[in-house]
Amino acid sequence: MSVSSEELHKRRGAAVARGVGSTISAYVDHAGGGTITDVEGREWIDFAAGIAVTNVGNSAPRVVEAVKAQVERFTHTCFMVAPYESYVAVCEQLNALTPGDFEKRSALFNSGAEAVENAVKIARHATGRPAVVVFDHAYHGRTNLTMALTAKNMPYKHRFGPFAGEVYRVPMSYPLRDGGLDGPTAAARAIEMVEKQVGAENVAALLIEPIQGEGGFVVPAQGFLPALREWATRAGVVFVADEIQTGFCRTGDWFACQHEGVEPDLVTLAKGIAGGLPLAAVTGRAELMDAVHVGGLGGTYGGNPIACAAALAAIETLRELDLAAAARRIGQVMGDRLRGIAARDPRIAEVRGRGAMLAVEIVVPGTLTPDPAATAAVSAACHAAGLLTLTCGTYGNVLRFLPPLVISEDELARGLDILEEAFG
Ligand SMILES: *Cc1c(COP(=O)(O)O)cnc(C)c1O
Repeated sequence: MSVSSEELHKRRGAAVARGVGSTISAYVDHAGGGTITDVEGREWIDFAAGIAVTNVGNSAPRVVEAVKAQVERFTHTCFMVAPYESYVAVCEQLNALTPGDFEKRSALFNSGAEAVENAVKIARHATGRPAVVVFDHAYHGRTNLTMALTAKNMPYKHRFGPFAGEVYRVPMSYPLRDGGLDGPTAAARAIEMVEKQVGAENVAALLIEPIQGEGGFVVPAQGFLPALREWATRAGVVFVADEIQTGFCRTGDWFACQHEGVEPDLVTLAKGIAGGLPLAAVTGRAELMDAVHVGGLGGTYGGNPIACAAALAAIETLRELDLAAAARRIGQVMGDRLRGIAARDPRIAEVRGRGAMLAVEIVVPGTLTPDPAATAAVSAACHAAGLLTLTCGTYGNVLRFLPPLVISEDELARGLDILEEAFG
């Protein structure tokens, strides 16, 4: 071996800004299926998928082939300068795949945060209203506007303000921590706050993750999303679903909104869209999307041809391998094991999530007091034993699992064995 992870870590310390962290200190050599291998040949079972990005797996064969072919034809012309077919084809796919039978349009960007920013731009432009309503525990990105939309201070916002205005936060439905409020009641609580404190007629957009990601894999109570959807329709508010983490078969459907039959006006997409290449999108009602003047949306790299080729190949892979079904199967196998662990371990307050987006919330036994130290310890034990896991949650006490949807049964079982051992 020419280089060790330790040497690379030293070089990194002298070259890379400290503010950019990493979950593990090993350096990747290659990855595929359900594993990641470092430069020294050590292997991890991958329960992270690069934060819900490599749903089709790393270096998925169709993606590799499509990228290779595109990179030899042309690498960049800028769609705003000289357009090309793959951008149009990705938009056609997204318009067809996202929930809702109405006429849609899409625009492509580079990152999730950029998609969220553009959804807000479009909603404000189309409605002529300023306010954006977001929820407790929400995560929408790290740019200035999306920091304002994101709930958690450390590490995302601390000393990075001042933040963008006209952002209003209301309570989320969080069954474990809101006394088990039913969905419609939790929605009524949020809506009343908006009506009293903001005024519905001032609200451009209601922005929500159908299952929260960084905020702790919070699954709202049944009926919460439909009630908000209904209110938004009545109030002329644009309902924006941030499906950046939940999208592209992660939860066992193409999109998490589909579980309750909710049709958003706009959807923000990124992460799982292109098999690991940077791409993001806003997809939604044609009349909203097309309200913006020509030249009002765009960016140098948005919908880069290599990323578009990768997205078309990733979407084809999701479809051909029926990775939505794979996500449901992962959810079943993993859910059974997690519930088994939880039955024996009083630190686990709840197992939750959907499909291949599951988590456990860890507390001081017999209370709802979050235990981030125990969470970090279990996660570290997993890393040491060869399983890559991530934590999340406002209180840092949620251990989340996001395997690539192509993980093998054997890899999944080995990962769960390590996890079970880590809980001790
Ligand atoms: C990751 C994420 C974002 C931000 O995406 P980036 O590509 O990191 O900018 C926004 N919303 C949700 C729900 C996310 O999970």
